[in-house]
Amino acid sequence: MEWTGGCLCGAVQYRAEGEPFDVGSCHCINCRKMTGAAFATFVAFRPDAFAWVQGELGTFAATPDLVRGFCRDCGSPVGCWRLSEKNLWIMVWAGTLDRAERLQPRHHIFAKDELPWLHLADGLPRAEQFPESVLESLGLDSTLRNEAIR
Ligand SMILES: [Zn+2]
Ligand SMILES: [Zn+2]
Repeated sequence: MEWTGGCLCGAVQYRAEGEPFDVGSCHCINCRKMTGAAFATFVAFRPDAFAWVQGELGTFAATPDLVRGFCRDCGSPVGCWRLSEKNLWIMVWAGTLDRAERLQPRHHIFAKDELPWLHLADGLPRAEQFPESVLESLGLDSTLRNEAIR
């Protein structure tokens, strides 16, 4: 499967191949602030399956290590990555994909921070923070990063 996406104005474009290794929705306050939305659905790819093909991202790190990239022209948040794990994954926000309807979200993270007026009846697993299964698939020790994606 091939994926394309980018920002609102089109200056930033990316391409990815294959199944994302994780798709989930984050309810943490930082993701809400950054996207301006009630929660943020992320799509994680392995770096060797992902490429930025056009444009230059501005970046902001709300917490050490996690870099959030946005379009310098239109301001759209596009994705994020951890400097220390840049070789393991890169995430884009689901809304930036051209064909987001093809995604199969798997879970919710930081569900403890979910807004009380959201009522999502998707039946997906909900993790208080970052699910152990995902950390294990990345070869990471969860004790090192309970703050994880926040
Ligand atoms: Zn743009
Ligand atoms: Zn978050």
